Amino acid sequence: MPQTILCKGCGHVLYRGVELRPPIEIIQRNGGVCPKCGKKLQFRIEDIEILPVKEE
Ligand SMILES: [Zn+2]
Repeated sequence: MPQTILCKGCGHVLYRGVELRPPIEIIQRNGGVCPKCGKKLQFRIEDIEILPVKEE
């Protein structure tokens, strides 16, 4: 199932794709911060939001 991982600070899409990725990998790829708002990201429910993407 496609997924979207969002920054909870600003809603920036950190990852969107059909491949399931571990959120920690996405966070590490961004250097542990949101590239848009600079929020420090940790794999916690308060920091990121993971949504399934509906195919259109
Ligand atoms: Zn952000």
